[in-house]
Parts: sequence; structure tokens; C-alpha cells
Amino acid sequence: MKAETGKRVLLLMSAETYRATDFLAAADALGVDVVVGLDARDPVEAIAPERLLALDFADSERAAEEIVAAAAQRPLDAVVPVDDVATVLAARAATALGLPTNPVEAAVASLDKAVLREIMASAGLRSPWFETLPVDADAAEAAARVPYPCVLKPLFLSASRGVIRADDPEEFVAAFARIGRLLQQPDVRARGSALAERVLVESFMPGQEVALEGLVRDGEFHLLAFFDKPDALDGPFFEETLFITPSRHPAEVQAAAVEVARQGARALGLRTGPVHAELRLDGGEPYLLELATRSIGGHCSRTLRFGTGWSLEQVILRQALGTDAGEAERERRAAGVMMIPIPAAGVLHGVTGLDAARAVPGIADVEITIPRTQPVVPWPEGHRYLGFIFARGETPAGVEDALRAAHRHLRFDIRSAEEEAARGA
Ligand code: ADP
Ligand code: CA
Repeated sequence: MKAETGKRVLLLMSAETYRATDFLAAADALGVDVVVGLDARDPVEAIAPERLLALDFADSERAAEEIVAAAAQRPLDAVVPVDDVATVLAARAATALGLPTNPVEAAVASLDKAVLREIMASAGLRSPWFETLPVDADAAEAAARVPYPCVLKPLFLSASRGVIRADDPEEFVAAFARIGRLLQQPDVRARGSALAERVLVESFMPGQEVALEGLVRDGEFHLLAFFDKPDALDGPFFEETLFITPSRHPAEVQAAAVEVARQGARALGLRTGPVHAELRLDGGEPYLLELATRSIGGHCSRTLRFGTGWSLEQVILRQALGTDAGEAERERRAAGVMMIPIPAAGVLHGVTGLDAARAVPGIADVEITIPRTQPVVPWPEGHRYLGFIFARGETPAGVEDALRAAHRHLRFDIRSAEEEAARGA
């Protein structure tokens, strides 16, 4: 019997998370009993009522009290946030229950990109110039004084949603207005509250981008996986595509990046749990782009295997339950994922070439995650990928080639609104 068998974990998540399946499968494999905490405004059909705890994520103090009350009936051994929206609530509830967690202030800070910048800059980490503007600010006035190129972004969204580069005042004014419209969308408003009232402007940080997956143990950052992002991310929008591990950057550059992530985690005051850090390597001097107190998004964690075959989610759950002895080492083989880019706006009617893509040597799986007849929204307003391609191999270069070759086989039948109307008529 495994050390965690029979323990009970509360998984806090949003209904639209990509991460539910992998966390539920991990709990199942470990023999852990699961309660799922969802936002009461979300649809909940998929969860059996006895496993469900409906909570008001927007009022995390009250929701934390409800979790404490529920735990008095059925004790909890861990509270684990599955995605961004649940990190503050998880920290509050776990603190109240005396379970291992990050400080509430650290969770709050990591959700506000401007606060994160302030903390990193005051800790002495190399930081871009940055400033926040109210959404109703005079964009032309700001455009006249910000440095170029710059990047404008909402304070609280993820998956590069609403992140736009501007090279001159005209582009700045257009980008600012575009983010203002995005912040008015009902699904964004529902999540944003006060954070939707401002826009962050930063100087553009050049260099190749990397993503570090880590686990904080007793306040110290430990690297689990180092991903390269071999496609240039120069904007104007920043849709992510390839993540490949291990890194092909020189060992000393990787070590410098890990050191920056370690300093960032310390500056934020993290104590425990997963960290996803994104950096730009400007030569040997890495900049921190982002530090999130959660694991990697989408289905990208499926590229990772640890120890005797654990998933990233199993590693996270074992740590939360106190059964992790710090032994998780990533397997030696190379692995990677492509988040399938969105080629056009419209409605998805079908995908061809899947069999040919799956037959490419090294391809482990191709998964389409937007259902047929559903809308496809390109970046920067969009944030849902068409799907994911996974590959494994002996070398990172071989994995990258396999992912690109598989992608070339795929054809997406996406019909624009006009085409839809013409066909319907
Ligand atoms: P999100 O939380 O939505 O992922 P990020 O702040 O991480 O938002 O930005 C998304 C992407 O946009 C980054 O991965 C990076 O490619 C690009 N980006 C964001 N800010 C900058 C910047 N200051 N300089 C260069 N690229 C940036
Ligand atoms: Ca990011």
C-alpha cells in the first residue's frame, strides 16, 4: 500500500481548467480520496455530488470558512489549487486548517502582475521598466512617454491573453484600446474585479524564452524540468507553441536561469508547492517574465515523467500530503509538446490528417481539445488552443522535428462567420 492511500485531498479548480483530468487521475493512481472545490457560478455536471464542494471563489474568506466547516465533517489532509484562480483560496483554507501552504500574501501577489514586478524589482532582480495605467487613462499621453518597444497586458489573465507588443505610439494607442475592450468581456469581468481596472506596460525584454517547472520545499526552489521555447516570441501577440525539455542552452546559462527562479521564489516568500517560472535569456543574463504558484498549464505536464513513472500531478499531490521525500528526478529522455496554434477565427468543423500526424516517429499523442462546431478565437483575445501534440525521443532536436512534422499533417476546417451565414442561408 502506498503511503498516501486513504488520505483525502481537496482539489480547488475552475470548471474550464485543462488540468482536472490529470489531477484526478493522479489522485486515483495514488489511492487518494478527492473532494473537488469548484466556483459555485461554474457548471458542475461532471462531478458526483458527494465529491463536490461549491464555493464562492470571489469571496475567499467566506469560502475558506466553508472549507474548514466541511473538513470538520470529513477531514482533509491537503488543499491543492489546480489553477491560478484557486491559489488564494487554497492558501487561506490550508492556513486555517494548519496544512502546508504558501502565505496568503504570496498567493495574492503572484496573481497581480504589477505587484509581482514590484516585489522582484525591490528584491534586486533584473526587471523591465514598468508602469500601470487606469483603463480609462489618456492613451495618447502615455504613448508619448513610454519606452519602445513595450508590452501591454492585463494584470491577471493567463495564457498570454491580452498581451500585446507596441513598437510606436500609434501601436500603443491601438493595443491599449484593444485590451480595454477585452477587459469588458463578461467572462473576464467576472474574474477580474479591481484588477480589471488597470493595464500593465513594460519594456519589451529581448531574448529566447524558457519555462522552468519547479517545486518549492521548505522555502527552497527545486528544479523539476527546464523547457526551451524554440519558436521566437517577438509579438505582436504571444501565442505559445513549442515546449521542449531538456534545454539545449549552455549549462551555465541554464544554471543562471535556475538561480533567478530561485531568487524570485524566495522574494515572493513561497514555502511549498509547484512553481511555474518563465524567463527570457538575454545572453547569460536571464530576466524573470513571470512566476506563478501553480504547475504548467494546458496539458503540457503530460511531457513529464519522474522517478519510477510518476506524473507531475502525482509529485505535487505527494508533496502536499507529506509523503514526498524529495526524490523526484525527471526521466532522461527528451520530450516536448506543441500547443497547436490558431490559424484563423471562426467555427471549427473538422480536423484531418490526425492519423498521419500520429504516425510520425516519436509522436506520442495528438489531442484536439476544441470540440467540433465550437468557436475558435485567435490571440490576443483567445486563450484556448486547438489542441496538443506530444513527442518523446532521444534528443530535443529530434523531438522538435517530430512535433513540427506532425503539425504539418494537420488541416483545420475553420469557417468564418460569413461562411457560416452563407452556408446556413
Ligand atoms: P500570461 O500570464 O498571460 O502568460 P505573461 O506576462 O507571462 O502573461 O506574458 C505572456 C508572454 O508574453 C510571455 O511568455 C512573453 O512571451 C511575452 N511577454 C510578456 N511580457 C513581456 C516583456 N516585458 N518582454 C517581452 N516579452 C514579454
Ligand atoms: Ca506566462
